[in-house]
Amino acid sequence: MESAPAVIVAIDGPSGTGKSSTSKAVAAQLGLSYLDTGAQYRAITWWMVTNGIDIADPSAIAAAAGKPEIISGTDPNAPTISVDGTDVAVPIRTQEVTSKVSAVSAVPEVRARITELQRSYAASAEKGIVVEGRDIGTTVLPDADLKVFLTASPEARAARRSGELKGSDVHATREALIKRDAADSSRKTSPLAKADDAVEVDTTELTLQQVIECVVTLVEEKRAGK
Ligand code: C5P
Repeated sequence: MESAPAVIVAIDGPSGTGKSSTSKAVAAQLGLSYLDTGAQYRAITWWMVTNGIDIADPSAIAAAAGKPEIISGTDPNAPTISVDGTDVAVPIRTQEVTSKVSAVSAVPEVRARITELQRSYAASAEKGIVVEGRDIGTTVLPDADLKVFLTASPEARAARRSGELKGSDVHATREALIKRDAADSSRKTSPLAKADDAVEVDTTELTLQQVIECVVTLVEEKRAGK
């Protein structure tokens, strides 16, 4: 039997919509690779912070953008992220990195570098890949076979993120989320946006399992040529 052609799935949306959990589960269920592009922007931000680069100075960030070597492990059951050989899966999730990542990811030289890296991962995924982020369907992989844009109410997103952050203040989480989404949506270079040909899924009233099933069905329909 001939194997199915590689399928490229782009999943975009703001934080707290269930993007990561959905993308990982869909990739695992369909035997595809998985790429967390937010982790790559967090990794380069972690490197800037660790190396004393002034986050308020876009030209300093631009000058350093080519220096760190970022490697993503694309197994959806055990994704990894390293910078210059150091495992940074834990330190990229700190409050400090989260509060600085939007400023770093808005710098065009950073985006050019990371976008190139993302395209090389997508091109080398034999069976296909699920790539999650903010600008995958619009900029990184405009020819993706399927584009999904996940949304949810600010309340649902804040509640989910607070749950993940184990009991942190929902109000403070909501404010921080709204601020980060506003920065990501208003930046000049490839902002968070829904591609015209993306399928929008509002996850506010859905369980994670329902969102996963919905996206798996969309991929299967694409594969069947519907
Ligand atoms: O998905 P996550 O919340 O980990 O993303 C962290 C940050 O990385 C986002 O707030 C955004 O600034 C940046 N990002 C981006 N483009 C992507 C993915 C993430 O600018 N494709």
